[in-house]
Amino acid sequence: MTAELIDGKAFAQQLRGRVADAASRFHKDAGRIPGLAVVLVGEDPASSVYVKSKGKACLEAGMKSIEHRLPDTTNQADLIALVEQLNADDHVDGILVQLPLPGQIDDKAVIAAIDPAKDVDGFHVVNAGRLAVGEDALVPCTPLGCLMLLKDRMGDLTGLDAVVIGRSNIVGKPMAQLLLAESCTVTIAHSRTKDLAAVVRRADIVVAAVGRPEMVKGDWIKPGAVVIDVGINRVDVGEGKTKLVGDVAFDEAAAIASAVTPVPGGVGPMTIAVLLRNTVVAARARLGLAKDASL
Ligand code: NDP
Repeated sequence: MTAELIDGKAFAQQLRGRVADAASRFHKDAGRIPGLAVVLVGEDPASSVYVKSKGKACLEAGMKSIEHRLPDTTNQADLIALVEQLNADDHVDGILVQLPLPGQIDDKAVIAAIDPAKDVDGFHVVNAGRLAVGEDALVPCTPLGCLMLLKDRMGDLTGLDAVVIGRSNIVGKPMAQLLLAESCTVTIAHSRTKDLAAVVRRADIVVAAVGRPEMVKGDWIKPGAVVIDVGINRVDVGEGKTKLVGDVAFDEAAAIASAVTPVPGGVGPMTIAVLLRNTVVAARARLGLAKDASL
């Protein structure tokens, strides 16, 4: 391996420390601590684990965690009524509805019901639009975490060729917008892209957000490129055991890239840290307080 490992776990830990300090400054300014409400519908085990770790991280950062767990038979109107109640609650600065939702509920309608000022996931069309036109926005946590790792490693990104593989509203599109705002030349690749390997070979920055285990091969990577692997895929390794791998063939990429994120321990830990960061950012903005420069 020649590439440097980008340690997302360590970076996320530092960010969480800065968020805790910012939360305590908010406390002094506002006379209360920032609050994050997380809503989980149903019993999906992975979602349940995420919600638990979000609540724990929130408390560790000196913030209030409000958890609502609803049965998987919940209907859309009841869920939207809860969201509206949280919108109206002054002690709630951020609202996160854990996706995916059960089939009887339309994700888009629920996201649209969240007050954009409390939309700490950055999924509301108002925040997506603000990001697209370069206004202050709450930005989706995973792509913002990727950008923080890139800037920490590379500094100024101006003029670099970036390829984002994946065009979801949650990762790929906002990632591309963020890189464009940093004056990268951005290509968004997806399942219909012709000759993906050739497209990726042009890139100084590769962000893979596909959901296909080890799809991006080492010989697709330009020597010296920086590779951010967003993918989280659980694969069988025999004897009833599984392991997590990314969308990038890690060993191959590490032999040619200048830096690469591991899976696990790369992008993954950044998502919750940025969620906490977004909650403090939202809390200050709602009260008309100046931005906290440390975030
Ligand atoms: P989606 O399934 O919503 O999007 C996947 C994207 O990959 C689509 O745009 C799709 O293209 C594209 N794609 C699929 N197959 C190919 C292919 N063969 N070649 C090129 N592009 C392809 O996934 P998400 O964006 O939500 O997530 C992507 C990955 O990131 C997943 O592994 C997920 O688990 C992980 N993830 C990790 C997070 C973290 O905290 N680290 C947070 C969020 C996601 P098309 O649009 O044409 O179908």
